[in-house]
Amino acid sequence: MRNIDRTTEDGLCTSCGICAAVCPVSCICFERRNETYLPVINHDKCIQCGKCLRTCPGYAYTYDTKIEKEPLCFSVQAKDKKILKHASSGGVVTAMVRKLLRDGQYHTAFLVLDYDYENQLETKPICEEEILQRTQQSRYIPVSQEKAVRFILENPDKRVIFVGTGCAVHGLCNALKEAGRSREQVLILGLFCDQTMTYSIYEYLKRLKSWNSPVKALHFRDKRAGGWPGNIRMEFQNGTHVHLPANERMIVKAFCKQKRCLYCMDKLNVEADLSVGDNYTKKDDSAEGSSSLIVRTAAGQKSWEHCQDEFFMFHAEYSDIKSSQHLDKKFENQWMNNLVFADAHNGRQVEYGIPCDLKPSGATDCKVGRKDRERLKKQLRKQRLGESRSYGCIRRYRAIKLARMGLGKLLIGLHLYKKS
Ligand SMILES: Cc1cc2nc3c(=O)[nH]c(=O)nc-3n(C[C@H](O)[C@H](O)[C@H](O)COP(=O)(O)OP(=O)(O)OC[C@H]3O[C@@H](n4cnc5c(N)ncnc54)[C@H](O)[C@@H]3O)c2cc1C
Ligand code: SF4
Ligand code: SF4
Ligand code: SF4
Repeated sequence: MRNIDRTTEDGLCTSCGICAAVCPVSCICFERRNETYLPVINHDKCIQCGKCLRTCPGYAYTYDTKIEKEPLCFSVQAKDKKILKHASSGGVVTAMVRKLLRDGQYHTAFLVLDYDYENQLETKPICEEEILQRTQQSRYIPVSQEKAVRFILENPDKRVIFVGTGCAVHGLCNALKEAGRSREQVLILGLFCDQTMTYSIYEYLKRLKSWNSPVKALHFRDKRAGGWPGNIRMEFQNGTHVHLPANERMIVKAFCKQKRCLYCMDKLNVEADLSVGDNYTKKDDSAEGSSSLIVRTAAGQKSWEHCQDEFFMFHAEYSDIKSSQHLDKKFENQWMNNLVFADAHNGRQVEYGIPCDLKPSGATDCKVGRKDRERLKKQLRKQRLGESRSYGCIRRYRAIKLARMGLGKLLIGLHLYKKS
């Protein structure tokens, strides 16, 4: 199979949309299936060129070992209070985009607009400053970068800012390589990424209670709901809103996880020019939120130096960022998942090699054990329940988990009381 049917059949599509952007005969469209948007090929038109599969970041991704191992790092926070208030973290992405567009350094930036999950999320070209606020915050749902990649490929003379998770960045880099293009004209702002969820998280939250009005907007993390890192905010068509604890998302996220994320090892977005995430290092952080920033390339450094007056900034250690993002544990799970996958697919892995920010030695010799197989099976079982909209099961799981957590807290309280 020389096209992305292989990716979708193995459930490894991240819905990045990049295959559709590179297809020379435009024969790929997207359909909503299993609570996500998946590519469908019109086989009457397909010329079997293999371009989509060569570009796809879903399958057989290989890490570039030449990437900088100890990059320059900072903890940063936007000085602009309005940007900071609406940001997920320290407002790096928005404040940088604003400064770079304002000063004519870049022609446009591709960002996600608004918080409506009824249709497929996508990045769109944003040039006006006034609407930047509506792009802020993290969407923990797959975002199509089809328009962004198509624009970049069709306009080699335009300077573009691309914002995306690790897999989307790999897809863009693959597409540029395939087109024989350098990435000189593109600034890649990479988001740290632990996972994205399918649209089942939105459908689940919609059904969590009987709301008085249809949902208009969902903010996964909003500082208006309890400060940084932010709780869930749901806005309704009748003008009302509710805030839900972030735990409502965390507790069920295993059911809503994208299957591809079970194998992903690139949490810190190693191919980006600048990688950004929440500052969980507990150093130079702030109750209003701040970001960890990794400067990975010369182009990233140049843009950062152009923008740095917009921020409060402190030097940070790469090792602190890595440990605050729990990379070691992530590596162990994800790498073993890759080996279990290879075991069941004639040695074909989802990801090959190891990103520079993870342990380089020993790991490739690991042997898959029964425990590893069982763990992945359990993760996949939960993931299938989300895909098949088994919200009743998920709610029962939530109730049990909440009861257990309540009991745990009660026992700790009793223990402390007895001790005092
Ligand atoms: C799916 C996902 C998982 C993440 N996981 C982690 C994590 O585990 N640890 C961590 O520290 N940080 C994580 N982050 C990053 C973090 O949540 C913030 O997005 C990041 O720190 C940037 O915040 P900011 O305040 O600079 O940006 P803001 O000013 O809030 O702007 C955010 C920008 O990102 C764009 N955007 C939002 N969601 C997406 C998306 N899915 N794809 C492409 N563009 C998008 C928006 O359009 C906006 O331009 C994750 C982000 C995402 C989207
Ligand atoms: S390129 Fe993206 S959307 Fe297309 S099959 Fe691969 S992961 Fe899915
Ligand atoms: S193989 Fe070529 S023509 Fe066929 S869907 Fe993929 S990119 Fe399009
Ligand atoms: S965890 Fe990896 S595969 Fe999943 S969305 Fe994030 S970068 Fe993409």
